[in-house]
Amino acid sequence: MTGSRKERYDEGVSTGAARPKAEGGRGVPESRDACVSERQAIVELIDVRKVYPLGKTEVHAVRGVSFTIEKGEFISITGPSGSGKSTILNLIGCIDTPTSGVVKIAGKETSSLSDKQLTALRHKTLGFIFQSFNLIPVLDVYENIEFPLLLGKERPDKAEAREWINFLIEAVGLEAYRKHKPSELSGGQQQRVAIARALVCKPDIVLADEPTANLDSKTGKSIIELMKKLNHELQTTFIFSTHDPEIVAVADHVIRLLDGVVVEDVRRNGIRQGEGAGSRA
Ligand code: ADP
Repeated sequence: MTGSRKERYDEGVSTGAARPKAEGGRGVPESRDACVSERQAIVELIDVRKVYPLGKTEVHAVRGVSFTIEKGEFISITGPSGSGKSTILNLIGCIDTPTSGVVKIAGKETSSLSDKQLTALRHKTLGFIFQSFNLIPVLDVYENIEFPLLLGKERPDKAEAREWINFLIEAVGLEAYRKHKPSELSGGQQQRVAIARALVCKPDIVLADEPTANLDSKTGKSIIELMKKLNHELQTTFIFSTHDPEIVAVADHVIRLLDGVVVEDVRRNGIRQGEGAGSRA
């Protein structure tokens, strides 16, 4: 990434939310390691429970889950089907609310926010990637990526927005497909568009629910590699759910669920939550 583009991303000039400056006021640190070493919690779940009513019974989808995700991490939430992965992503994405417990996103307790504040948090802090891509069929690649920018309160500066969108198109390797509609793209290409779209408002966190589920394994791996590259370059926190062990292997922080509880929470440097400096067991 060129210096000017990176600075622009850091500053969030007109095209979206300003990214918080790292301590010392120099903007985002040069390396992801530097960022992670700050150990700044961007997501915190404290004894979170989610119970869904189901007819005359209840489903206990999440049963007392606590964990911390630090800024700049590349996290896999894994576990078998029905273990609570999507429920947890929906809670982090402020799409759903916990039955009890605390969910904090960028230091804000989500249950204390009004609908308006939640909408603003979702728009400025969170980007979403879905397993079925969810692109708008009548819009081309450029327009699909641009779309979230047009939903914000602030009107982005056109020239800066164009430069940023073109940068993202290049970053996801779709320069030759700028004018293509989703139906003219492969599944992997559509997911690349969805990744660029998730990043267009410069969120601190990108959430991806089974982003490779509808892709063959080779394409799935290339999508995860692309997400990791962008995680490294932009220092955006990526949180994705998967049950594919090959994809889990790429993550630098793995949270494993079984029947709605965390059975493993490990960082690739070997530090488990609760053992390392600055952790919050
Ligand atoms: P995963 O993403 O790991 O497959 P989910 O979070 O989707 O798991 O689901 C966890 C449990 O909660 C499952 O038993 C599922 O059937 C149940 N569940 C999820 N959403 C709802 C809902 N809206 N209503 C009732 N039960 C639900």
